[in-house]
Order: sequence, then structure tokens, then C-alpha cells
Amino acid sequence: MDNRTPIGQVINNEGTTVTLAGWVSARRDHGKLVFLDLRDETGTVQVVISPKSKAAYEAAQDIRDEWVLSVVGTVQKRPESMVNPDSAMGTVEVPAEEIVVLNEAQTPPFPLGTDGYGIDEEARLRYRYLDLRRERLQRNLRLRSELVRRVRQHLFDEGFTEIETPLLTKSTPEGARDFIVPSRLHPGSFFALPQSPQQYKQLLMVGGFEKYFQIARALRDEDVRADRGFEHTQIDMEVAFADQEELRALNEELMITVFEAMGRTIKEKPFPVFTYREAIEKFGADKFDVRDEQEKAAGVLAFAWVVDFPFFEKIEESPSSHKATQGTSSPALRSSEGAKKWTFTHNPFSMPKEEHVEDLLAGNNLEGIIAQQYDLVCNGYEVGGGSVRAHKAEVLRATFRILGYSDDRIQKEFGHMLEAFSFGAPPHGGIAYGVERLTMLLSDETSLREVQAFPQTSSGRTSVVDAPAPVSSAQLEELGLRLRAASKTDQKDEQ
Ligand code: ASP
Repeated sequence: MDNRTPIGQVINNEGTTVTLAGWVSARRDHGKLVFLDLRDETGTVQVVISPKSKAAYEAAQDIRDEWVLSVVGTVQKRPESMVNPDSAMGTVEVPAEEIVVLNEAQTPPFPLGTDGYGIDEEARLRYRYLDLRRERLQRNLRLRSELVRRVRQHLFDEGFTEIETPLLTKSTPEGARDFIVPSRLHPGSFFALPQSPQQYKQLLMVGGFEKYFQIARALRDEDVRADRGFEHTQIDMEVAFADQEELRALNEELMITVFEAMGRTIKEKPFPVFTYREAIEKFGADKFDVRDEQEKAAGVLAFAWVVDFPFFEKIEESPSSHKATQGTSSPALRSSEGAKKWTFTHNPFSMPKEEHVEDLLAGNNLEGIIAQQYDLVCNGYEVGGGSVRAHKAEVLRATFRILGYSDDRIQKEFGHMLEAFSFGAPPHGGIAYGVERLTMLLSDETSLREVQAFPQTSSGRTSVVDAPAPVSSAQLEELGLRLRAASKTDQKDEQ
């Protein structure tokens, strides 16, 4: 819009004639005068309409909350008695000389001027585009955007290359269930949506990109919970020729640079390091909060590394606190062939500690094998996790054998990795951070859904648009799929 002034700048523009545009947050009719609070993404200002501006005054009679207007007026100081100390714009107002209604609005189904916590979630997500107008969500999503911008900037400064990896791919074990996508060109075959870019980022190491990162979408078909949805975003990184200490150091620098630039205090630098065993003994868990009450109130960030995780655990021994075993949802690893007694605690692509490589290769002393895995914990959350990887085919093959895979199945599912590793794979390692988790820390939110624009509902449906939804029989036909007739029990469930 020509000559539009952001409302946030009105405060410095007394005496200037401005054109503002935005939404009506509130309308107060005092008979002679009508007051509107006009809001754009930079602020909210009071607009005063008097009968002196005849056309504007007439227009103002119909205007309601959330209508979209443009207003021309000359910014003035409010009379002393009208100053609102609670508002950033409380000292000024704009008497309207001209009002154009750009669009009308229905009455919103719920109030937008509150923090929104008390409102039914299904309603909030159905009208998410309205919910997003709420100040709290505006702040959360902007914080998220700033976080990602600063992470990108720091990684570029450090010589990283941002590279996208495919969304239509093959199952990669991260301990959750895959979303699968039927292939039209290859009826009866399916892609899996990535649980993480794990394999591709390792292939990029083989491809000679020594410092990779990606702001990557990861998809996991898990039950939706406060801190988990179907989709989340990772800051995904991988670095060649770096050992665990170097990897931790460069990640520490990333966290410190980004969070200090965002005005946060970090409790302890360098970050304290606990072995998994120490963490369990000291805190009873592998994620913990080491802040005192005062630090909690001040929003201090207490980072700590947890290292030396057992590589494997017996499936019978779950449930444990490890993410790989949460939800027991990895049919790929838990079913079919052979005796599957062991699962990985974090990441099957990890390298064991140097002194345990021999045991891993021989399949001995499995409970004693420690992975070169490191998790970053902050204020009680696991915010990131990664490892030094097995970059030799025989190590990776030995891991999958321990996990109960036959040689045939290893070849079929991971033959491409073994082959790639045979072409001079450099030693490498990496990490992934949950963007939502980090944003939750910054915004003091406890649910992932408060820091995603369009999250899933807790019943596993999308915000605003109606998905998942049935597809036409023509689409099914094209994909070579036929739906099983709903059984009597299914039908009953659906009623
Ligand atoms: N792929 C792992 C994850 O998504 C992270 C990593 O090891 O880089 O949790």
C-alpha cells in the first residue's frame, strides 16, 4: 500500500499525516466519538473518529472487531488525562480524516485479545489463522523465526553449506513409525517420509560436503502428545573429520552465540558434561534441570551434555527413558524374522567408543558397548542429540546384525550405505536439534503446538484443512490400491 506507515512507528511521528492499515482490535462508541484500536504486526494505536470527519464517522458506525481498514490521519499527543500507561502507543492517537474499509469480518468464534490458553484446542486449530493473530502466538512464531535466522547465520559464518535432502525416500530407523506414500509409477511400492535426514546427510559427507546443515522437516507417525507431533523441524547438521570433542565444541559455540544474541543468560560455560550413568545416579533421568528457583524465574538456560550412552538395550528391559524405545512403535525393528532381542538406544548409525569396536564386531558383551552418542539437555528437555558415526561398512553391518537383521535384509535396506562407505567415507559425526523444543524454551511454552503455525490436533488431524481425508476411487485406482472393506468392528468404531 502506497505510503503506508507501520503502526509501530506512529509513536515517533507526532504532527505527521500517516496512512495506517490493519485490523480493528476493539471499538468503543462514546456517542459523540468512536474509538478504534487499530492493529498491524508492529503495534496497536488508538484511532479517534469524530462527526467532524463526516464520511469517516459514518463508516465507523458499522465497523466491528477484526474488520480490515486503512486510515489516514495526523498523529497527535493524547491529552494528559487520556494517556494509557499500559500500552506502548498509549501517549499518542490518530484522529481519522479518512477511513477505507478494506474488508469486513465475521465475529471471531473466540476472543483474540487473551493468551488463549483456556480456549478449546479443536476450535483454536480449526480457526488457526485467527488464533495466530493472538499476541502470544505472534511472539512465539517470531521468536522461532529469529532463532532459525541466527542459527543459519552462525552456521554460514562457520563455513557450513545448507543442503536439502529428499522428502520422498526410504525408511530410516529412528525408533518411530514411518509415514508411507504410495507410488503411482511403481504400483505396490511405497516411499517413506523421512524420520530424519540421517542417511542423506551421511551420504553428503561421502560426497565431499564437509559441513552440512539443513532446517529439515522430520515426520514420525507417533501418537500426538504435548511435546510431539507428526511433523517437527530439526536443525540438522553433519561434519566430516571431527571427533566428539570438536563436534560438541562447535555445537556449544552455536548455542551460546544464538541464545546470548537473543538476550538469554547461560548458566554454565563450557557446558557441563555428565555420563549417562552419572546423570541417572545424580538426577534419576537422562534429561534434567539444574537451575535453582531464582534462575528459573530469570529464564536462565542451563545446558548440559550427556554422553556415554549404552549403544544397545534388551527389548524386554524397556520401557526406558530412551527415545528409541518410546512408543514401542518400530515394527521394522521389532517384528518378523529372527530373534530380535536387542534394540538401539539412540541411533544405529553411531560409532561405538574406540575400545568397544572389537566387541561390536564380534557381537560380544553387548550391554557393555558404549556409543559415541551425545545429547544436549537444557532446562529439563533433551534439545538435541547426535553421534560420531560408524563410517566403515563392517561396523554398520555388525550393528544391524546385533539388531537381528539377516545379511539379506541388511543388504536390501542399507546396502546403499554400505556401498557408499566403501568409496572412501570420511570419519564424521553430527547432531539434530528440535526447533520446536528450542522455541518452547525461549517462549516458556510447554506444548509444541504453541510454537508451530499449523500443528496437528491431539486427535491427529490437521489445523484448518480437513486431513486426513478419503481419496476418490479414481485416485486409488491410479495407485493400484484397493481399500479393505470395513469389517463389522471397524464400522462400529466409526459410528
Ligand atoms: N538423526 C538423529 C535424530 O533425528 C539426530 C542425529 O543423530 O543427527 O534424532
